[in-house]
Formats: sequence, C-alpha cells, structure tokens
Amino acid sequence: MAEEQAPPKTYRGNCHCAAFVYEISLPEIKQASECNCSICYKKSTIWVFPKPSDVKFVKGDSSALTNYNFNNKQKTHKFCSTCGVSLMVVGYLRPLETGENRAPDNGFNIRTFQHGQIDVWKLDIKTFDGSALPPKYEVPKFTGPQPVGDSEDLQLYTGSCHCGAVTVGLKSKPLDKNFQGAMECNCSICGRYGATWTYPPKAQVVTEGRGDLGVYLFNKNIASKKFCKICGVPVYSEAVQCTEEQVAQMDEGSRQWYTRSKDLIALNLRVINGLDVKDLNATRFDGYTYIQPGYVEP
Ligand SMILES: [Zn+2]
Ligand SMILES: [Zn+2]
Ligand SMILES: [Zn+2]
Repeated sequence: MAEEQAPPKTYRGNCHCAAFVYEISLPEIKQASECNCSICYKKSTIWVFPKPSDVKFVKGDSSALTNYNFNNKQKTHKFCSTCGVSLMVVGYLRPLETGENRAPDNGFNIRTFQHGQIDVWKLDIKTFDGSALPPKYEVPKFTGPQPVGDSEDLQLYTGSCHCGAVTVGLKSKPLDKNFQGAMECNCSICGRYGATWTYPPKAQVVTEGRGDLGVYLFNKNIASKKFCKICGVPVYSEAVQCTEEQVAQMDEGSRQWYTRSKDLIALNLRVINGLDVKDLNATRFDGYTYIQPGYVEP
C-alpha cells in the first residue's frame, strides 16, 4: 500500500537584506541533511532540493546571486552580495553521465526560511559525509602576524574563509568540549549565517585579506558583519566605532550592547580549520526574541 502523501507546504525564505525572497512548495520538512564538506561546513548550510517548478522568486532572481565555484565547477554556491547570506546551491546530486542532458538540481538553505516555519535547533538533522568525497580540500594557510595573548592557557588557532582570500589567526582557550565561550544565536542574521561565535578581545584575532571582506550593517547600523566577498563565508562581526556623542545619543539597550562589544570581535568559529564546532558545547541564545524591535520578515 502506498504511503499517503501529505499536502505540500509553502515555505517562504529570504536573505537578510531582503533583496532575494522566494517561496518553495514541499512536503512538510521533518528532517534534513547537513553536509560536512569544506564549503557546507563553513557556511553551515542545510539544504532541501525542491523541484524547479515548485520554486518561485518573489523578489530578485537566482541569476542575480553571487556565484562561487570550486572543485571543477561541479556545484555553484550562491549568496547575496549585500548581506552575505547563502541561499542556494546549484549542481548535480547525481553526477551527469557522458552524453546525458538534464537540468541541475537546485538546493535551498533552510536557514533562510522565515522564522516560525522550521526550528533548526529542533529539526532532526542527519550528517552527509561530503568531506569524504574527492578531491580533498586544500586548507588555506594563515601567514599573518601572531595575534596577541600571552596568558599560558591560550593556544594559536588558524582559519580562513573557503576560498582563502581571508585568513584568520586566533589566540583562544582550548577549543574543546570544556570551552565556555562558544555561542549560537537564532536571531535573523546569526540564524541565516548559521555561525558559532566566540568573543575574544580584538588583540587576540588577526584577520588577513580584509580588502576581500563584504560589510553588512545590522542592529541599528552599529553591528558590522563581515563576510568574504568571493566565497560568501561569514567571518566575523564587530561594533562600528562610534564617537562619544553618538554613544550618548543611543537608546539604553544599544548603549549597553555597544559598551559590552566595542573591544571584542565576534569570530565565527566555523572558519577555524581542523575544528568541528559540534565538538564544542556551544550555548544557544534566543536572539530572535531578545533583539527588539524585531526583524521584519519581507
Ligand atoms: Zn541580502
Ligand atoms: Zn573566501
Ligand atoms: Zn544573533
């Protein structure tokens, strides 16, 4: 007996700046798969693959997204060049055979779905071992000056975006299951980036290749999100430097946030090479509820 098909649901998603808004129709999503390959890991993407006929762009269209190709161009990762949010992957789930002609599969990142449709923290997520597939990822090398941090319990970690245009050195307490400083947030931007943040003092982080960073302002334009303009990996976030006068004019909540944040960097631990953020006991912060006024979903 055939299993009864539940009627499809319409999911609406968008990048953060709302240049791209789409709707897809799919059977209700109860589980998803997360790929641990070099790019999906750094972007923390969770894909679903609707049929092309079940996708509608309400605003913008996929051809205007920024493309990132690697690995013999078999898959194209697509992100918004304004806010750095990764929306799509286009490529063949099942490789094309010689002489075969068929349209590529389109994957959409569940993290870009609007709030309330799916809770990715509660979703049953299986890992697909994409990292085992050849060719092996060449880890970009950090060659910048050592970050400062003399305390004996600090270790040097290095990382990068995916394409290697941006590299990072970090002095941190050991990044293991006892590490206290890792945090995931479900606010409109962190949820879409899928970032795992840590908040060291600025001197403990050195970023090379800053000319290749895109900048996206958030939270009344006082938080500056930095992502690689070439591959779209979210790298870090920091407070925009404000004058005393500007600080005096802030509302109380913003001033508190600014005072707490101005000497820190929020580094996305997914850029650290050789680390799996799943091995950290990251705390989860309900930024979606906490940050007010809330994000208006387009
Ligand atoms: Zn955008
Ligand atoms: Zn890059
Ligand atoms: Zn957040």
